[in-house]
Amino acid sequence: MMQLLKIFVHQDVSQEALVRSICDRYPHVPVETIDDPKSMYQTILTSADPISTGKQILFLTRNQGAFIRKCPGTRSYICCGYQIIHIGTFCTMDCSYCILQSYFHPPVLQCFINIDTLFADLKTITHNRTRGMQRLGTGEFTDSLIWEAMTGISQQLISFFSTQDHAVLELKTKTTAIEKLIALRHNRKTILAWSLNTPRIIQTEERRTTSLNARLKAAATCESYGFPLAFHFDPIVYYDGCEQDYETVIDHLFDHVSPDNVVWISMGTFRFMPELKTVIQERFKQSTIIYGELFPGMDDKFRYFKPLRIQVYQRLIDRIKKRAPDVCVYYCMEDETVWYKTQGFVPDERGGLPHMLDMRAVSICGITQLENGQ
Ligand code: SF4
Repeated sequence: MMQLLKIFVHQDVSQEALVRSICDRYPHVPVETIDDPKSMYQTILTSADPISTGKQILFLTRNQGAFIRKCPGTRSYICCGYQIIHIGTFCTMDCSYCILQSYFHPPVLQCFINIDTLFADLKTITHNRTRGMQRLGTGEFTDSLIWEAMTGISQQLISFFSTQDHAVLELKTKTTAIEKLIALRHNRKTILAWSLNTPRIIQTEERRTTSLNARLKAAATCESYGFPLAFHFDPIVYYDGCEQDYETVIDHLFDHVSPDNVVWISMGTFRFMPELKTVIQERFKQSTIIYGELFPGMDDKFRYFKPLRIQVYQRLIDRIKKRAPDVCVYYCMEDETVWYKTQGFVPDERGGLPHMLDMRAVSICGITQLENGQ
């Protein structure tokens, strides 16, 4: 259950059955119907810690914009070509490094009620596709599974994708909210993915998330129900001895799941836009992650010095390849030098990063690629 202070309902959706069932789950939480979100934003912005408050205010509303969007990526770095299914915003967990803290102004738990439109849009884009395949996911503006008990959206998405031949869904989470998903018919078209980190980073920087062991056990359970898996080491946070700790995490990972069932593993070292620094300083006073040697990159985000990034990636890649020689390891927003120095090739030599990931989905999830006019 979400820990909520208040539920705001936009007038446009106030009569929807889903709104009633969500509000019924929280009989002790005050509900206010509004026709303009300004008063709600004011409530959040005038609180002592607007970001914490935003994690406890639920706004049930209609998504007025696009449900399916291209991942914004970041200029000058290699992007994976993923598409976002926009089911809602923000998160009940509280990671110091979370970009969403400075992405939304102000941030609020926004749950989109017009799910019918989402599925109509999904049907249109999957039906109109004439070439290749699609990789879509919900874990960009929120954690994929925090909404599950409330809306069942992932269950509906899993059912939808189970009938798709040219599209695959990735659900990305730091929760273990898999109970309602595991028995569903998925036809291997949904990849369940966990963000992983070292126990030290989980304990110090990822408030209200689940432990590493819990995430890996959940992944193993999903594998036993036939789901393909993926993992994301993002952000990799540098500290003395971190390489050894990340190697241990990789060992634990492959003690729990089979390398043959892992579609991809992504890695990205800690990076942040300058405005996130103040947020971390104010909200996570014990955190030291922003005080390393971090320099602005080509997209103005601060990153570790490139030789250090390469050194850390190399250690992790070596360990992953030892345990899972065939798994596809990719970087979230790195440049060609990093790819070449750590993996000995650049994605363009293999058709580009989107193509490399598509091919993994083809071989592990049984997706087929559409030829022109097929
Ligand atoms: S789990 Fe993900 S979305 Fe939620 S606070 Fe942490 S980084 Fe942000």
